[in-house]
Amino acid sequence: MVKRTLPYFAFMVTLSVALAAQGQANPATRGQVVLKYLGAAGWEISDGTTVILIDPYLSRINGPAPPAGGSGQPLAGDTRPKYGWNDIATPDVAAIDAHIQRADFVLVTHTHYDHVLDVPHIALKTKAAVIGTESTENVMRAYGVPEEQLLTVRGGEDYQFDTFSLKVIPSIHSPLDHKRYFSSAVAPSGLKAPLTLKQIHPEGGTLAYLIRFHGHQILAFGGMNYIEREVEGLQPDVALIGAGASRREIYDYSRRLMRSLRYPAIVIPTHWDNFLIPYGASQQPAVDALQSFVHEIAAASPKTKVIVPKYFEPIPLELVAK
Ligand SMILES: [Zn+2]
Ligand SMILES: [Zn+2]
Repeated sequence: MVKRTLPYFAFMVTLSVALAAQGQANPATRGQVVLKYLGAAGWEISDGTTVILIDPYLSRINGPAPPAGGSGQPLAGDTRPKYGWNDIATPDVAAIDAHIQRADFVLVTHTHYDHVLDVPHIALKTKAAVIGTESTENVMRAYGVPEEQLLTVRGGEDYQFDTFSLKVIPSIHSPLDHKRYFSSAVAPSGLKAPLTLKQIHPEGGTLAYLIRFHGHQILAFGGMNYIEREVEGLQPDVALIGAGASRREIYDYSRRLMRSLRYPAIVIPTHWDNFLIPYGASQQPAVDALQSFVHEIAAASPKTKVIVPKYFEPIPLELVAK
């Protein structure tokens, strides 16, 4: 392995892990970017002024389990209502409102329920712009999210906003069911709420996002796959990388990705927890399984710091000198 970007680590960014451990970072520090893990593939990224959400999924309903390799297993003895595909998609509004007070942008990687179920409520409540595929935006339209909030993308866009820029990366979905998962389904236009869980679960294509924010470049995936040529040379300093079991279906997953991204300073695993169980339930089996990912990254990119996130615990990034 050739370490081509060692000098980059020396000056670009270091992480203030101590603050993260305290769980009480002050996000008001000007220009400080703070990440918070919401579970599943969900993130809040904020500088205290602009709030960007990625695949925010707070409801954690007792819904259908994903195919083999997916990161969701029902909890034995779960007394919550069980949702089937033909049940009405009903977010847990109390859970959302307990954790999401405001948002300016919601980035959605694909139209699966563990990525999109909560987004209509969040969009209507916060007036945030929703960035996603046509499929995702059609789900928003079904719930009456106003057109001016909908920024439809297909991958390849590189957009400037007031406080950050956003490169939309074409991507592909996790190889669930031992590579048998495939969906070309798209949520059609003209849908009207209420929708069933099945109707908000067509995938609709998959995207990743590179957010350039206060000198940081944060690359976020919504699952366990990527298109190598689309991520080659991006050079994020922070990479949120899908770490669920289905990554094992991919050839040389971590090593190819680390090389393509030029060995990012910080890797934070995403979509590794069991999203079918409530926040308070033990994630120990998922944490145990995650250790193999931590080792993969350590082997592929020894200088990279891997941070295993805890729900809602602020992860402040180092201020970058302008
Ligand atoms: Zn999915
Ligand atoms: Zn998912």
